[in-house]
Amino acid sequence: MQQTIKKELAYSGVGLHTGEQIHSVFKPAAIGTGIVFVRQDLSGEPRIKACPENVNNTLRELSLKKNGVEVHTVEHLLAALSGLGINNIEICLDAHELPIGDGSAIPFVELLKDEIISQDKPKKVFRPKEPLWSQTEDKQVILLPSDEWRITYTIDFDHPVVKTQFATFVITQETFVKEIAPARTFGFLKEVKSLHGRGLAKGGSLENAIIIGETKILNDSLRFENELVRHKILDLIGDFSLIGMPILGHIIAIKSGHDLNLKLVQKMVGRLKEGRLKEGSKEGNRSVKGEKG
Ligand SMILES: [Zn+2]
Repeated sequence: MQQTIKKELAYSGVGLHTGEQIHSVFKPAAIGTGIVFVRQDLSGEPRIKACPENVNNTLRELSLKKNGVEVHTVEHLLAALSGLGINNIEICLDAHELPIGDGSAIPFVELLKDEIISQDKPKKVFRPKEPLWSQTEDKQVILLPSDEWRITYTIDFDHPVVKTQFATFVITQETFVKEIAPARTFGFLKEVKSLHGRGLAKGGSLENAIIIGETKILNDSLRFENELVRHKILDLIGDFSLIGMPILGHIIAIKSGHDLNLKLVQKMVGRLKEGRLKEGSKEGNRSVKGEKG
């Protein structure tokens, strides 16, 4: 069934980019609304839906844009909503980005998890019949048919502290909350210095990111031995949530990121449109026939 939240919930915190305090209010939304951001700091309170057509920037973050109005760093919230199965909600903001919290999806999970309510209409499900993929020279993301929602991820950095990490999880609400949601975002000290030099990532600190120095990780401790690859799974869940329905399939990602993930999401949108043309507008679970590439 589709799900929303029972009541309005407020959450405030520092923004990664601006470094300023940001206030957000999460509101219940009707069946079929989807996930909608509302920029209450702008006149007319413009609304930006989380959907593939509104993707703006995929360079190291996921941001959305509609009619010139943007909302940044939405991926951890989108992952939390996907992991909790919430598909109708409004998020009112007084800034162009979300609070970064602790760099993971846990603040959003904690806020929302006991406030979920079922709505009187089934969700559609994306179920590929054949593999779909996107790739560049050394990066791949592949969606295979499966009876479960599984993500397998490999990262590989040419860095003395972080090399290869691998993880595979069947994503249920339980595994998401326990194994994926707590994994924090990460960055390399060199990059952080350059971002600060350009007036970016002003709110970034060891409180909301794992920072990887030349010879060691600067944070006191990690939440998981392979926290970095788990965070990449978190980001991927956020990216693929833009398809707007749960996925029954196995995603295998090798060194992928927002950009490549979104290319595959676009292919899935294409299959969905073909499916719609073939099947008309049937409600309920719909199988989408994938095609090669
Ligand atoms: Zn992230």
